[in-house]
Amino acid sequence: MSMAISDVETKGMQDNPFAPRADMKIWLDGQLVSPAEATISVFDHAILYGDGVFEGIRIYNGKIFKEAAHIKRIFESAKSIRLEIPMTSDEVSQAMHEAMQANGITQDGYIRLVVTRGVGSLGISVKHTARPSVFIIADKISLYPPEVYQRGLRCIISSITRNAPNSTSPRVKSLNYLNNIMAKLQANDCGADEAIMLTAQGHVSECTGDNIFLVRDGKVYTPPTSEGILEGITRNLVMELARKRGLEVQEKALIRHDLFVADECFATGTAAEVIPIVEIDHRLVGDGQPGTITKQLIQDFVNYRNA
Ligand SMILES: *Cc1c(COP(=O)(O)O)cnc(C)c1O
Repeated sequence: MSMAISDVETKGMQDNPFAPRADMKIWLDGQLVSPAEATISVFDHAILYGDGVFEGIRIYNGKIFKEAAHIKRIFESAKSIRLEIPMTSDEVSQAMHEAMQANGITQDGYIRLVVTRGVGSLGISVKHTARPSVFIIADKISLYPPEVYQRGLRCIISSITRNAPNSTSPRVKSLNYLNNIMAKLQANDCGADEAIMLTAQGHVSECTGDNIFLVRDGKVYTPPTSEGILEGITRNLVMELARKRGLEVQEKALIRHDLFVADECFATGTAAEVIPIVEIDHRLVGDGQPGTITKQLIQDFVNYRNA
């Protein structure tokens, strides 16, 4: 057994600047194991086909943020792709707390919760897969550098269309992220921070891992979930906070032009929280500085999560 582990350690871990800390503990199918032991079979359909679901979750002040909403969503994602999570909601919650404790996370952190389809034969059929695996990585959050939050994101509108609702539904937070990865690659190739993706109809959908909002004439707009977007938990909270502030919020189909003439624009997501977008396809958003309402909503979000 120990020989097997050291073999794994030399594979992908050694001399890898992105390798996890050796003292981390990963929750894997009911056990807390080292990163070297935290392995998934090459026959798992998560690896072979991107077949599985996940959540990215924040920990603020030692508490799992919007825990119930994240657990609900992973069960909904799983139901949509007919993946049976071999645990109850309470067991998932308990496992996340075990992972936090095992890694000494008492203040701020990040959880990646993943359910794979499980080991199967080489065909795509789920009939030939066994038990799904569940794993939880609890770690520090990795973010855009602080200066990016200060100046705001520079975005392109990607030529990569967001998955259509009748293909791999964007409502499912699945392990199949290639659609978004291709758009992010294009953004980075263009020297931009992030990509905004359109639907096949040319409507604004979202960024590669964040939802999008714009502000025009004091009103706040974001695409409705029927456009084929991930129904972000941060998105829903920001809509609520904006309404509490007395702002009008509309879920509305938006096109490229709406982005170009917006006074303000921002993205929301668990990792990024609320982040200004200041440039879109070489057009400044407003005056090119993070907007007033955007800054107010950032403050509202910070107050909410610190409360
Ligand atoms: C996770 C995700 C988001 C943001 O959702 P949150 O629940 O706010 O973290 C937005 N878009 C995509 C494609 C995502 O995967």
